[in-house]
Amino acid sequence: MICFLGIGSNIDDRLSNLNQSIALISDDLHINFLQVSSFYESPPMYNLNLNIFLNGVIKISTSYTPFQLLSKVKKIELKMGRKESVERYENRIIDIDILCCENEIIESNELTVPHPNIKERKFVLEPWCDIDSNYIIVNENRKVKELLAMLPDSLKLRRVN
Ligand code: ADP
Ligand code: MG
Repeated sequence: MICFLGIGSNIDDRLSNLNQSIALISDDLHINFLQVSSFYESPPMYNLNLNIFLNGVIKISTSYTPFQLLSKVKKIELKMGRKESVERYENRIIDIDILCCENEIIESNELTVPHPNIKERKFVLEPWCDIDSNYIIVNENRKVKELLAMLPDSLKLRRVN
């Protein structure tokens, strides 16, 4: 199964945190790392007091089910020192979100796929466009680039690599 993951960090050396998360994801025998986007600096969206994030998107193929993949990415977040969160939106060393897993549609307490906030997140759609702008998101029935075009122009992300 082909999956897209969103990665983000806004503490310490954000670039090295993103690269470390990719290395740990790639190390897993059940996951093949396929592609990585450029990385983008993006202002915090929900809690405006947070630090500026560095975000990217990666493409993998995996023999895991989406739930197994979620458990794996949560383990990697903990291994990298992410604190169990008390508040919903806080600074984090690493955040790994499952964006899409082919045509899977999952709506449970632990896991929603496609990720429910894709449409409003430029920091997901813009890097995703680097990798596969024509990818059609199941449920939305729209391409990644179409969803990106629907967001206001006012917010500009800074590409760093
Ligand atoms: P967020 O990424 O929304 O800022 P967290 O990373 O703290 O917040 O995730 C909170 C919970 O969201 C996770 O424990 C996980 O069970 C759940 N979750 C639901 N859908 C997804 C998804 N598609 N990818 C990652 N986590 C998800
Ligand atoms: Mg998350």
